[in-house]
Amino acid sequence: MALPVAKALLDLLFPPLCIGCRGQVSDAGFCAACWSQVTFLDGPSCACCGLPFGVALDGEMLCAGCLATPPAFDSARAILSYDEHSRAAILGLKHADRLELVPGFARWLGRSGRAVLERCDLVVPVPLHRGRLWQRRYNQAAELARRLARDWNLVCDPLALIRSRATPSQGAMASAKARRRNVQRAFRVPDSARIAGRCVLLLDDVVTTGATVEACARALKRAGAKEVHVLALARVVKASQMPI
Ligand SMILES: [Zn+2]
Ligand SMILES: [Zn+2]
Repeated sequence: MALPVAKALLDLLFPPLCIGCRGQVSDAGFCAACWSQVTFLDGPSCACCGLPFGVALDGEMLCAGCLATPPAFDSARAILSYDEHSRAAILGLKHADRLELVPGFARWLGRSGRAVLERCDLVVPVPLHRGRLWQRRYNQAAELARRLARDWNLVCDPLALIRSRATPSQGAMASAKARRRNVQRAFRVPDSARIAGRCVLLLDDVVTTGATVEACARALKRAGAKEVHVLALARVVKASQMPI
């Protein structure tokens, strides 16, 4: 049977469910109601870290944070704002074995990350520590990275970067400072020959304060990465970070 026909038949027998509420899906994995509530981060943003700006500005602009302390990564982008509307879908992927969401999410990542995907030659997921990997059985960032690399004909190397220190979950850390301290020197490149001179796409599911991707980018740059571009499904956009 031709593949599109098989797919149409499968969709008929098992209609895909909304990733927000498990209702009937309309577009790109969401039902119409959930879709209208999700905030896509495709507006004007900081040219480096992707922080959304409230208004459109001329040319490439950097946010105050990137101007004061340039990050170790060259750019960072996320598709969605991590809020009460996108949380169910992302936590489903993280904790509830909803791996059927991976192909759809990878397509979204491909769409909004096109510019960096065309530059990069290696996809590296933010690693989980072995203990946590064992608890969850899979690393959601690695699943996304693998699928994205396959879609874009790139090499995925989930072992290029390892978490050498088990750190308390970032979600449990109260302040940004605590999160930064938590992940300092937690990441290591075991074999720099796999990274040196490469243009690396670092993949994460949710960027909270940016401390984890910053620590990963630093380790990759120390190992000789030419460029590091971060791509994530979602990021926390705090009201206090928004320009007035
Ligand atoms: Zn829904
Ligand atoms: Zn910035």
